[in-house]
Amino acid sequence: MKNETNGYVQESVIMEEPNENTISIMELPGVGAATAEKLDAAGYGDLLSIAVTSPAELVQIAGVTESTARKIIKAARDNLHMGFQTGEELLRKRLAITKISTGSKAFDAMLGGGFETGAITECFGEFGSGKTQIGHMLAVNIMKSDPEAVVVYVDTENTFRPERIEQLAKGAGLEVADALKRIQVARAYNSDHQMLLSEKVDELISNGMKVKLVVVDSLTAHFRAEFVGRATLAERQQKLNKHMHMLLKIADKHSLCVYVTNQVMSKPDQFFGDPTQAIGGHIVAHASTYRIYLRKGKKGSRVAKLVDSPNLPEAECAFFVKEGGIEDFT
Ligand code: ADP
Ligand code: MG
Repeated sequence: MKNETNGYVQESVIMEEPNENTISIMELPGVGAATAEKLDAAGYGDLLSIAVTSPAELVQIAGVTESTARKIIKAARDNLHMGFQTGEELLRKRLAITKISTGSKAFDAMLGGGFETGAITECFGEFGSGKTQIGHMLAVNIMKSDPEAVVVYVDTENTFRPERIEQLAKGAGLEVADALKRIQVARAYNSDHQMLLSEKVDELISNGMKVKLVVVDSLTAHFRAEFVGRATLAERQQKLNKHMHMLLKIADKHSLCVYVTNQVMSKPDQFFGDPTQAIGGHIVAHASTYRIYLRKGKKGSRVAKLVDSPNLPEAECAFFVKEGGIEDFT
């Protein structure tokens, strides 16, 4: 849905609508009349729906080979990009690295001031450990410290809550309606869609939005669900690798903060020590600049442990998630 006053898209998929300039699906390579008919019948009659589908889905729907499916999807995506390349990129100012506050002094201190721009920070931890809360809090805090900042929130688990932004924005003394307008939320329906949405950040910036924070919550859930079993592990890791590198590229190119959340696998056979392990293995671990392990602590607190950083020591801190924001454990 377009908001007429500022052109921002709220709570919808960030994707341009097909316009009169876009080609018909019949013009995609490998799509003849019969295939086009099958696609159309299955609800894939426009470029957008094809661009966000997965090759496997297309194979099933249209009866094409996997390599043809990939070509079709790529062509649909390339065509949707048409008209969105501008020279504006050349005019954009270089922005210095800044830190986004978590709201907790101890948490910020552990990170050398907060979540860094120009880098990827990953939080991993079990359900309820505070990963999503941190995403919401960072969104509000970057908007507070930079009145022009825009946030992109790629939501894969349907856990983004505007009501929660409302509470946190109030807690931070921000104007609630304005804060909500400055968050671009997109539901990602599968891993391909998730990757495509992250790529779109470039376009939003070219179109003049000052995106300073990109949240991908969760980074790994779709990948984990779609690639089941050992046989698909290599493919999953390859895709994740591509995704992470693209995120790193936008973080670096636009001096923005990328915050990704990651689930943990339980290792039920392990009775001692920590029975959990982050998803995504070395690929995610290596591409994340900072890695934080979250767990539940005493008295309803949360404990964050910095487990990997290029320039900071391993450290731990505790904080509370409160209605108005994240606070120190006192
Ligand atoms: P994860 O994303 O790691 O699964 P969340 O970030 O969703 O976990 O954390 C959920 C927790 O955050 C809840 O269990 C609760 O403790 C806390 N929380 C959520 N909303 C509020 C709120 N409005 N006020 C206080 N605490 C909240
Ligand atoms: Mg969550």
